[in-house]
Amino acid sequence: MARRNRPSRPEDDYEELDAGRILGGFRRTESKRGGSWTVQPISEANALKEYTCPGCNNIVLLGVAHVAVWRNDGLMGESADLEDRRHWHAHCWKIA
Ligand SMILES: [Zn+2]
Repeated sequence: MARRNRPSRPEDDYEELDAGRILGGFRRTESKRGGSWTVQPISEANALKEYTCPGCNNIVLLGVAHVAVWRNDGLMGESADLEDRRHWHAHCWKIA
């Protein structure tokens, strides 16, 4: 029987799943407009601020489920891309 050098850490898996639940959905990657984008669904319970949707220039209202989107392949690295994320109405992102 093979020996495992590294102990398994089930608590890490748990945290990851839990974060996904809290944020209201699972992050996914989409190709659009010649780029690769990370799309994070934001649930109604987590829509705690208002944003201007880049798709229609209208407000993404408080308590409205929507998506946060940022580049997946930006030149400045992931943290810069994340800071640059935009909040879209789910419908507007779909047709963008
Ligand atoms: Zn919109």
